[in-house]
Amino acid sequence: MTTYLFPPGPTPALPVRGRSELFPIHRLFFVGRNYHAHAVEMGRPVDKSVERPFYFTKAPQTLTLSGETTPYPSETGNYHFEMELVVAIGKPGFRVKAEDAHELVYGYASGLDMTRRDLQLVARDKGRPWDLGKDVEDSSVCSEIVPMPGVVIERGAIELSVNGEVKQKSDVDKLIWNVREIVADLSLFYHLQPGDLIYTGTPEGVGAVLPGDRIAGRVEGVGEVALTVGPPA
Ligand code: MN
Repeated sequence: MTTYLFPPGPTPALPVRGRSELFPIHRLFFVGRNYHAHAVEMGRPVDKSVERPFYFTKAPQTLTLSGETTPYPSETGNYHFEMELVVAIGKPGFRVKAEDAHELVYGYASGLDMTRRDLQLVARDKGRPWDLGKDVEDSSVCSEIVPMPGVVIERGAIELSVNGEVKQKSDVDKLIWNVREIVADLSLFYHLQPGDLIYTGTPEGVGAVLPGDRIAGRVEGVGEVALTVGPPA
């Protein structure tokens, strides 16, 4: 029997609507710049005819359940919200064709890709890794997973408000690379596994929050996600 020097940490997991079992998390993938208007506001427009999607990852330990209050993170003065549709992978797949991508879908969730924007932009502009800007403790906020096996979401309102004021408002039909294309492309690089989550990117309107702010987001047909920003860590 395996023994450890100290107790291993808990398995990050999410509740599943209508089920008592939790969905155990394997990896957290994030698509960069996947809505044109957000790419433009970041100063990096996307030309799909000559570009491919790109990704970053966060540690599964950054997963935070919707509804929690998390500390304002250290070493930033520009902590941003990004509202995203999240795909929950339920079956393994490698080099998946776009037309078969639906077979890997277990369901969907509403998520927040919280970001130290100041550090991300420094890293981007210096050609450094994004980890300090993106792989932030408590930064991968996610709702319960809504089971929709084999379903590809192609449209639906996506929006976010802070303290009741709408900041982001778009539609999933504006994804540059859609759910099928993302699953297929990401599966060229990774053997996708049950428990992988793919945050599909944020629309325009990202902005900063401060301690005490209440974030509420939703994706039509999926559900709501919420986060309260607490005092500094
Ligand atoms: Mn994002």
